[in-house]
Amino acid sequence: MSPEEADALLALDAEHVWHPYGPMPGTVPPLLVTEAEGVRLRLADGRELVDGMSSWWSAIHGYRHPVLDEALTAQAGRMSHVMFGGLTHEPAIRLATTLVELVPDGLRHVFLCDSGSVSVEVAVKMCLQYWRSRGRAGKRRLLTWRGGYHGDTFHPMSACDPDGGMHALWRGVLPEQVFVPAPPPGFDRAPEKSYVDMLEREVARHAGELAAVIVEPVVQGAGGMRFHSPGYLRVLREITAAHDVLLVFDEIATGFGRTGAMFAAGHAGVTPDVLCVGKALTGGYLTMAAALCTPEVARGISAGEVPVLAHGPTFMGNPLASAVAGASLGLLRTGDWQADVARIERLLREGLAPAADLPGVVDVRVLGAVGVVQLDHPADVAAATRAVTGRGVWLRPFRDLVYAMPPYVTEDEDVSLIAGAMVEAARTA
Ligand SMILES: *Cc1c(COP(=O)(O)O)cnc(C)c1O
Repeated sequence: MSPEEADALLALDAEHVWHPYGPMPGTVPPLLVTEAEGVRLRLADGRELVDGMSSWWSAIHGYRHPVLDEALTAQAGRMSHVMFGGLTHEPAIRLATTLVELVPDGLRHVFLCDSGSVSVEVAVKMCLQYWRSRGRAGKRRLLTWRGGYHGDTFHPMSACDPDGGMHALWRGVLPEQVFVPAPPPGFDRAPEKSYVDMLEREVARHAGELAAVIVEPVVQGAGGMRFHSPGYLRVLREITAAHDVLLVFDEIATGFGRTGAMFAAGHAGVTPDVLCVGKALTGGYLTMAAALCTPEVARGISAGEVPVLAHGPTFMGNPLASAVAGASLGLLRTGDWQADVARIERLLREGLAPAADLPGVVDVRVLGAVGVVQLDHPADVAAATRAVTGRGVWLRPFRDLVYAMPPYVTEDEDVSLIAGAMVEAARTA
């Protein structure tokens, strides 16, 4: 692409295209990407950047993976889409079956939908409707801990961290959920008794009005990239069961191996009543997510006055997305993602260690293929972005965080390049 063509496109972008979490017109021009292959993004000006973000947790196998490309083109040769009401097809059936085999034991039913936020909407609808069916319509609030992120549509927003989710702006619009403090940090630290007691007390106190507790297990993602002990998940499982409250795990970011277990719930050996997956489900090729539930939840809903789950996105079960998701799960099953995630974890630990001594850095943490450098101030995003792209890496720092979650196929030198760029960004930002 000539520099003139690129400039013309960027001018049109500035004129018409809204970007995530941005004003209109935009203030910082985005980079123009023309192709991506393996772990590299190619820019219009010919530069190549190693993608340390996996396109927001999703491209776990890298770009243009031959197996995923083949699954997509083969499916396009048969049918790209067909409605899911009254019709079904092999890619969706196979995908749902494989998902049930991979997720924690006991989740047997799969509702396919368009995006992570929609899967959280569906999960919440399942929980509210379950209690309504059982004659307890008053149980319709959610309890969650602070620091969470569950998506950008209104109900998921209501469970996001109240400060990060700008709840003050939305008072009177968002349903008011019950918030407890964020879990004490540290994956390896034993659960703190005072926090466990508080959880127990709050769930018990609100049980009559709670449909569910919803949390991101082990890693809180976009709400602050914090890690906590899997022990808290076991505690939540016990106390929700004891107080007639459902438990929802949002594994949209953590699912499919990212934290070193296929699902983060696996670190705790816990099965929630409802599980949300998304992001890496299609290996980053197409938008698709799912809410899975136990037979108990499904039976409860189906025994109610309105015995159906009244939800049905137009593109539910899209065959292209189902086919590529099935192929992505196939790669996880046959490949050695555990070894790759462990390798990336080790290299990130080594490569990020120097950041701990930098002024302005308060914490450096790594879990699975997730690396985080936390600053004691909001990052200068423009300066940090210049620093990392100058080193041939793509990262997107936000708030006080410089973080990466590279594709599992990232080779050693490229992981080290990413870690080096993070240290440089922390120095500059
Ligand atoms: C990204 C994310 C969502 C929202 O998913 P979208 O596909 O962006 O709607 C929800 N929960 C978690 C934990 C996420 O990381």
